[in-house]
Amino acid sequence: MDIQTKLVHNQWQIDTQTGAVSVPIHHASTFHQFDFDTFGKYDYSRSGNPTREALEETIAELEGGVSGFAFASGMAAISTAFLLLSKGDHVLITDDVYGGTYRIITDVLSRFGIEHTFVDMTDLDAVARHIRPNTKVIYMETPSNPLLKITDIRGVVKLAKAHGCLTFLDNTFATPLLQRPLDLGVDVVLHSATKFLAGHSDVIAGLAVVKDERLAKQLRKLQYSFGAVLGVQDAWLVLRGLKTLHVRLEHSSRSAMQLAQFLHRHPKVAHVYYPGLSHHEGHVIHREQARGFGAVLSFELEDEQAVRTFVQHAHIPIFAVSLGAVESILSYPAKMSHAAMPKAERLRRGITDGLLRISVGLEAMDDLMADFEQALSYV
Ligand SMILES: *Cc1c(COP(=O)(O)O)cnc(C)c1O
Repeated sequence: MDIQTKLVHNQWQIDTQTGAVSVPIHHASTFHQFDFDTFGKYDYSRSGNPTREALEETIAELEGGVSGFAFASGMAAISTAFLLLSKGDHVLITDDVYGGTYRIITDVLSRFGIEHTFVDMTDLDAVARHIRPNTKVIYMETPSNPLLKITDIRGVVKLAKAHGCLTFLDNTFATPLLQRPLDLGVDVVLHSATKFLAGHSDVIAGLAVVKDERLAKQLRKLQYSFGAVLGVQDAWLVLRGLKTLHVRLEHSSRSAMQLAQFLHRHPKVAHVYYPGLSHHEGHVIHREQARGFGAVLSFELEDEQAVRTFVQHAHIPIFAVSLGAVESILSYPAKMSHAAMPKAERLRRGITDGLLRISVGLEAMDDLMADFEQALSYV
């Protein structure tokens, strides 16, 4: 069955007890045990809850995994996955990793004796060179933020397997509709479900999915030990969002492609970063490992003043952090996601003062394009 059909018709479509066509929200924190000796499937909601389980099984199915885990945020999912590591282990991590992941690796895990090295993950030779005997995890994010850099997933997996390390991949930008890392040999897929999966800028949530039973067991234990589980209302919101993921992403990706082409031709735009453009570094690799180019792109204007003018005159997109929603979201990495990074370091990574990121929403394409056109005319 196509993933599009699975999104609406899965085992959670109809509640077997009542026939309800929406997953019931089970607020119970604890569950009565009918038998003194044999406890039922659920005992306490930190370790298992039917509403959360519906989401966990749905994402596992979409990603082609055996088990999914829902967390209170994308960062809770990522942080809990890192708890698979022990003191003395080393993580090789992409240098354009999400800011929150950068923080947990550099500020928190370092205090627990977990080492790390940042590497340009698009350069397989560099990845190979930096693997150490104690490297336990290679951490990828592709397409990455905000320059949409593409990592060769199969290439990194091959290196990891040769050295006995696990691979983690943050699949937030692509979603399982466009990219299924577990099929390519990745061990742990991570999501900020806050973004495309939930899709309506109204919930913070995170997910992890694995294909290996032993890893699933370890992660389940970490989930209820650490306890950063997703609440049932929020689990329901993500389930609700998932039902329309396909149509949302299809519309937004199509618009993103048109917008990217428009910006690419525009004289006031110095550069466009979008994996769908044939000049984009990684375009070919992305096409081989994913089914589409997604709804996020970045573009470069001359300087901060040009960005300021553009943002003042762009009326349709909201100006905010985050992405993957029904409304288009315009972000300014230099002052938002990468504000904490020293300027020289930020510039070295190509995140200039003129760079803007747009996550394309569900507005009519002509309206969005006209809005961009008039805003650019003031620049
Ligand atoms: C937003 C985001 C996260 C963090 O997720 P939260 O739900 O905000 O905790 C992680 N990775 C990527 C790529 C993101 O965009």
